[in-house]
Amino acid sequence: MTHSVLFIPGDGIGPEVMAQARRVVERINETRGAGFALTEAQMGLDAWKATGLPLSDETIVAAKAADAVLFGAVGGDEEIPRKLRRERGLLRLRREMGLYANLRPVKAHDALLDSTSLKERVARGVDLMIVRELSSGVYFGEPRGIETLPNGKRRAVDTQLYTEEEIERVARDAFHLARTRRGMVASVAKSNVMETGRLWRDVVTALHAAEFPDVALRHVLSDNFAMQIIRDPRQFDVAVMDNLFGDLLSDASAMISGSLGMLPSASLGTADSNGRRPALYEPVHGSAPDIAGKGIANPIAAILSVAMMLRHSFAMEADAALIEKAVAEALEGGARTADLYVQGGVQPLTTAGMGDAILARMEALGA
Ligand code: NAD
Repeated sequence: MTHSVLFIPGDGIGPEVMAQARRVVERINETRGAGFALTEAQMGLDAWKATGLPLSDETIVAAKAADAVLFGAVGGDEEIPRKLRRERGLLRLRREMGLYANLRPVKAHDALLDSTSLKERVARGVDLMIVRELSSGVYFGEPRGIETLPNGKRRAVDTQLYTEEEIERVARDAFHLARTRRGMVASVAKSNVMETGRLWRDVVTALHAAEFPDVALRHVLSDNFAMQIIRDPRQFDVAVMDNLFGDLLSDASAMISGSLGMLPSASLGTADSNGRRPALYEPVHGSAPDIAGKGIANPIAAILSVAMMLRHSFAMEADAALIEKAVAEALEGGARTADLYVQGGVQPLTTAGMGDAILARMEALGA
């Protein structure tokens, strides 16, 4: 059976890290007969230069038709008019694909404990899954905009907005994930101050009682979570939160794993009648214009995104675990890109060099 996988490398370091992700998918194809049919589409600056749009309708159609999308990054494209960037950017792609649940795993690798900004004793063993609501909240709510007041001063408005259904469906994913892990969900919201926070807490509480009494649920205020994730991140298993808090708190949590270049993500939508969920997999990091074109970006977030794709879109758990093991072993063997702490005198690897190290471990593990 063939599975269609669409690559959208994007801007900046996107194409650099996706080239290594592609090598991993091709290896799995060759050695495991996975039957992935790989295609590629443009998005971002190159797409804009070629078509006048950073995200064309054809790319949207191709992304919707694919069994899974592997996405690099976009951004750093100030030449593209702001209006187009907003209307034809990543938010649009996520919305068109109906992606509402963003899974962001954060793991502390033993080999990287000297790269994390936390103390070794705090970071060791962290294995956290942040589930961020992706399709609603303040990034989408209307009204929004900047207006000029009668006194000539400007006023800006963003609207934080959630429906019960939007909260319930992402919380349901979080509870299901917890059942496959340590059975704990932290629901993170500003329920003491914000109306959306109150509704969030009510809906999650009711869902828990009705469908997931076997999972341990605790409510954590967003500001407290920001503190706890630095104080004692091991206390958390799955943490579910809205779009804005998820954006901020998952980036902060990234440092537990040593670098933003380590963090993969999966964005999932509602299953169709065949059980197929629209899915897009991407590194958490952006296009990193400061290092783009130098061949030094860390490709691990992109490669671990491939592992997430195998797990969540294709039920290939053994192959997903094999890629994760190959990454861990490459790190244990001393493979480091420049964003990770590098011992004095050791030359950091290039992006392709890290790809080589991981592929070598995959081969040693039988893939
Ligand atoms: P960024 O993630 O691109 O970079 C933040 C810092 O981390 C930079 O110093 C960068 O060099 C470093 N970094 C990131 N990924 C790395 C990797 N794989 N290896 C080594 N170092 C890495 O965030 P930013 O600088 O805030 O944003 C740059 C552009 O990316 C902006 O235009 C932003 O809008 C866009 N962006 C896009 C996405 C996306 O496409 N999903 C996500 C975040 C930011």
